[in-house]
Amino acid sequence: MIRILSLQDIQKIAAGQVIERPAHIIKELVENSIDAGATCIEISVHDGGKSRIKITDNGSGMSFPDARMSIQKHATSKLKSFDELAHLATFGFRGEALACISHVTNMTIATKQKDALEGIELIIQEGSIISEKIMSKNHGTTITADNIFCTIPARKKFLKTTATEWNQILMLFKAFCFSYPSIHFILIHNDAPIFNCPSLTSLQDRCDQLLETNITSHLLSVSLTTETDIKITGCITNQQYGRYDRAGFYFFVNKRYVKNYQLAQAVMRGYNNTLRPQNYPVAIIDITLHPEHVDSNTNPKKEEVAFLYPHRVEQAIAQAIKNTLLNTSITQLNETIAYKKTFYTPLNMPLNAPHFFEEKEQSVFVPQHIEFTKPAPDHCISETPTSITEQIDITTYKIIGQSLQTYILLDHPEGLLMIDQHAAHERILYEEIATHFNATEVVPLLFPIIITLTFNDIQLLENYLVLLAQHGIMIDVFGKEQLRITALPVYAKEVPLQELLDDLLIWITKETSENLDDVVKKITEKLRAQLACKAAVKAGDELTVAKMQKLIQKLHTTKNAHSCPHGRPTQWLLFTHDIEKKFKRIA
Ligand code: ADP
Ligand code: MG
Repeated sequence: MIRILSLQDIQKIAAGQVIERPAHIIKELVENSIDAGATCIEISVHDGGKSRIKITDNGSGMSFPDARMSIQKHATSKLKSFDELAHLATFGFRGEALACISHVTNMTIATKQKDALEGIELIIQEGSIISEKIMSKNHGTTITADNIFCTIPARKKFLKTTATEWNQILMLFKAFCFSYPSIHFILIHNDAPIFNCPSLTSLQDRCDQLLETNITSHLLSVSLTTETDIKITGCITNQQYGRYDRAGFYFFVNKRYVKNYQLAQAVMRGYNNTLRPQNYPVAIIDITLHPEHVDSNTNPKKEEVAFLYPHRVEQAIAQAIKNTLLNTSITQLNETIAYKKTFYTPLNMPLNAPHFFEEKEQSVFVPQHIEFTKPAPDHCISETPTSITEQIDITTYKIIGQSLQTYILLDHPEGLLMIDQHAAHERILYEEIATHFNATEVVPLLFPIIITLTFNDIQLLENYLVLLAQHGIMIDVFGKEQLRITALPVYAKEVPLQELLDDLLIWITKETSENLDDVVKKITEKLRAQLACKAAVKAGDELTVAKMQKLIQKLHTTKNAHSCPHGRPTQWLLFTHDIEKKFKRIA
């Protein structure tokens, strides 16, 4: 028998689509607080938000009729007509969030407008106001959402562990802090203060508040504006930092926190091959573009976005990151002065204090990280990569000598500079191969090298013989199971070719991508890196001063002098400051 669902059920189903987990509720409520002009927002949750979520803000508050109206579906003060949608400066516009939350939780709204004498508290169950009372309170709004999915038990089962839900909340909290440095955010879990982040002026400072010192010491700032008016700003970690997950990625499109795989890919392209395999950076990227070039109306949770010109955006991100990395100097690449973080100081005030927002917040939390100077200049970098020559002229430093037949030691104005001879040479060769592969000097072999492989392997390799030839390695198929190498690039005379071909076979068979262009690109990249690696001087090779000088000179002219093609650092600066500390010359 067909029957029409009750209105209550329809609304529960609709609500379930917008809200899947506690973090979604928090997102909607905090966005409302920001839309209401709040400068301080406190987020307090219990059990990863599963049993209680409470958001308190010092925003505009609502009038009594507005408060009653706010939980109606499609009730909004933000969008007056559909035409405004493209220019909207607020997060909200659907008028849906409060309605949905009121259907899946037990909700209360307490609100007071700034000039009003009194506020109002509404208690709501299953979307209807069951009681209201006039009360005195600070101006602003407090919304509590208890027992998420108490009305939809089937849904409740799908909630993850407290730890997982809490993790989502933590990410979201950081995202809000990053995109709104000027707002004071507070996060409390099971009555324990977790983060207290007073307002600041820059993203860099926000990072200092929120991220661990081992990350902040690696941060660089990113800034680029394209001809098409896409503005990319943010912070990224340098080549010496790497983590094993993508949890350090934060993207904001016109201030809205979004998740987008393509943007993450673009970030990785920007790093090119300067990170170790399976290593990911921290990247907090703000994308500002014409509101008409982005559609945030694509899904109800507004977590994803659609770009009108996605390629432009991705290109801009990759370029911005590339530029920043190319402009980094060795002094910026070291974990430097350990500075004391005082931002974490737990709230020194009773929780739920009625006069919370009237306290002088700033005076309680004085940042004391004065000695730390952030290196990267916050200027706008042009789209063409600039040379790093003016920044670090390592060729002028005195060579002290070679240590362990592996490191070249240099007298750097700021300390002792160590260069890994193999990594450095690898980088030099890699860039030479990548730019001049067509013009490498090739020597014909008087006695061609014969390599025996299986018929199957030869068939696999056959498609790549052209690529090898382009790189100066001339190979032809000789009989059914043999390859004949007839010429090699001068630099690769000593390269063990059997090993190289074996590597090539492994890459080919491991490659899973469907897109042939992609495969060839990846394999080319690997081939170049491997050629560079195998042809480079090794650790343990003794170098003459002349050789060291030449190596340093060449390294200096590379575009990316700080890491080898596999992402290991090429150089390391031991700061005078740290040396003096070791010798107890300074405290
Ligand atoms: P939307 O944000 O899309 O307008 P919501 O359901 O999230 O829809 O909120 C409905 C309305 O309630 C908002 O348009 C706003 O007028 C009001 N409102 C919600 N939260 C707050 C708040 N924290 N402070 C002031 N007004 C609020
Ligand atoms: Mg809203």
